[in-house]
Amino acid sequence: MTETTIALVTGANKGIGYEIAAGLGARGFTVGVGARDDQRRDAAVAKLRAAGVDAFGVPLDVTDDESATAAAKLVEDRFGRLDVLVNNAGVTGGMPQEPTRVDPAIIRTVVETNVIGVIRVTNAMLPLLRRSSAPRIVNMSSSVGSLTRQSGPGGATTTGPVAMAYPPSKTFLNAVTLQYVKELTGTNILVNLACPGFVATDLNGFRGVRTPQQGAATAIRLATLPDDGPTGGFFEDAGDVPW
Ligand code: NDP
Repeated sequence: MTETTIALVTGANKGIGYEIAAGLGARGFTVGVGARDDQRRDAAVAKLRAAGVDAFGVPLDVTDDESATAAAKLVEDRFGRLDVLVNNAGVTGGMPQEPTRVDPAIIRTVVETNVIGVIRVTNAMLPLLRRSSAPRIVNMSSSVGSLTRQSGPGGATTTGPVAMAYPPSKTFLNAVTLQYVKELTGTNILVNLACPGFVATDLNGFRGVRTPQQGAATAIRLATLPDDGPTGGFFEDAGDVPW
């Protein structure tokens, strides 16, 4: 008998996170819908279940230590382990974010969610991931966090918005992810970064050009890597994203 694979997706009540949950569910995973708002979480779980996904709700605000601890306890009590963690929850912090005008409070909020939130949830879940036979961690980054693309080396035009909080938070997340990769070398835990492309979601006022389903594809691939798959990589649909 094959054991069910247990996944937790943070910020899974809408957007790309919802589609990651749906995609993993369609592949037979039991999926924890991590979300901070009770109603939005319940609605997403109901919608996933109606679509045939074995989904369960996990109250989770990634900026809150107690919430992350309670989420890990919920998963432990129910399954005793976790196989896949997708750190998807993220915020942009709104505008303006020009370096000369930015309110430092915006930077703190964005880093608290996009970086510290990932560390907080990962550390809460790692004891459960260590009990899995094939643990995977996927961190949702963005190519706007690529220093190579931001700096436009070789005379290329610089890309990405002028924004002091969101792109640097993803650069920070990339660096943090590599620290996990270094510490977890020699374990069976594969840790990778995904960029979903420019996806139409609340995050950008639905200005993105890709669907949330398309945006979920790379994260789903990294969540379902074989044991000899990569670790410490930064990927988009087309392949590697430069650091
Ligand atoms: P959405 O705004 O649609 O969804 C963001 C999700 O994160 C929501 O479920 C939101 O919950 C959740 N979230 C935010 N803060 C917290 C918190 N403190 N605790 C728990 N959940 C939280 O955005 P996307 O689906 O577009 O973004 C998903 C990820 O993809 C993000 O990390 C984003 O940076 C990344 N990304 C997106 C791109 C795009 O073009 N859309 C491009 C590159 C990367 P709630 O409903 O409660 O607010």
